[in-house]
Amino acid sequence: MGGSRSAVKRAAAAIDRLRPPPPGLVVLIYHRVGGHAPMELDLPTPSFEAQMAHLAEHAAPCTLDEGLATLDRPEEAVGERPVAVTFDDGTADFVEEALPVLVRHRIPVTLYLATAFVEEQRRFPGDGRPLSWGALADACSTGLVTVGSHTHRHALLDRVDRRTAADELDRSVELIAERLGTAPVHFAYPKALAPRDPAVEAEVRARFASAALSGTRPNRPGRTDRWRLSRSPVQRSDGMRYFVAKTTGGLWFEDAARGVLNRWRYRGSRS
Ligand SMILES: [Zn+2]
Repeated sequence: MGGSRSAVKRAAAAIDRLRPPPPGLVVLIYHRVGGHAPMELDLPTPSFEAQMAHLAEHAAPCTLDEGLATLDRPEEAVGERPVAVTFDDGTADFVEEALPVLVRHRIPVTLYLATAFVEEQRRFPGDGRPLSWGALADACSTGLVTVGSHTHRHALLDRVDRRTAADELDRSVELIAERLGTAPVHFAYPKALAPRDPAVEAEVRARFASAALSGTRPNRPGRTDRWRLSRSPVQRSDGMRYFVAKTTGGLWFEDAARGVLNRWRYRGSRS
C-alpha cells in the first residue's frame, strides 16, 4: 500500500509539472494531530508544526470567509496564495494538539463538527475521543476558530433522502448555535461524498454559505461553486515535499485516484 501510495504522489507531482495548478483559494483538510492512531489522516504534532510554520511564512493563511471573498476578485487580483486550514469531525486532539500550534503561528481554522459525537460523548471510528463543548468554547475564545457543520451523525449525504438530510443538518446547526452561541454558516460533506439527489443538495445550499468536498485543487476566482468547494486532504505520507505541493493547489491526480477507491470502500456504510 505504501509503495503504491507514493507512486501515485510521484505521478501526481509529474502531472503538476506538465500543467501547473492555476491560482486560487486552497482549502486544506486535516482530521487528527498527535499521531496516536496508525492512520494516514493522523499527523505527528512536529509535522503539523512544521507545516503551519511553512504556511505562516510562505502563504497567506486566511479564514474561510476571507478566502471565499477572494473568489469574487479577478484572478490576477487574488495576490499571495490564500490558504484556509480546516479540520473535520471534532476529536479532542483538535484542542489538545492542533490548537496550540495554530495559536503560536496565528493561523485561523474552521472546524467542521459532527455534533452527535460531542453531544453524546461518543467515540469516532479509529478510537477518536470527542471534544467537549466546554473545550470547544475555550478554543473559540482564541478568536481563531470558526465552527462549521459536518452533519449531526456524520451522515453520508449521497445515500439519504431529503428529510433525513434536512434533519441531520438542522440538528447540527441548532446544537452548535445552542452550545456555542453562533450558528454555523459553513458545511463539509462527510467523507466528501456529494449528494446524488439534487433535493438533498438543495437542503445544504439553503442553510449554508459554502459546502466543501475534496478534489485537491485550488478554487478559482469566478469559476467556483461555493457549495462544491475543493479541499486538499493532508496525509502523513505527504511529508514536507508533497505538503508544499498541496499548499500551491497541486496533486489533483492523487485525489482522482483516491476517489475511485473510496467509492468502492464506502459502498455499504451509512456514516
Ligand atoms: Zn468526517
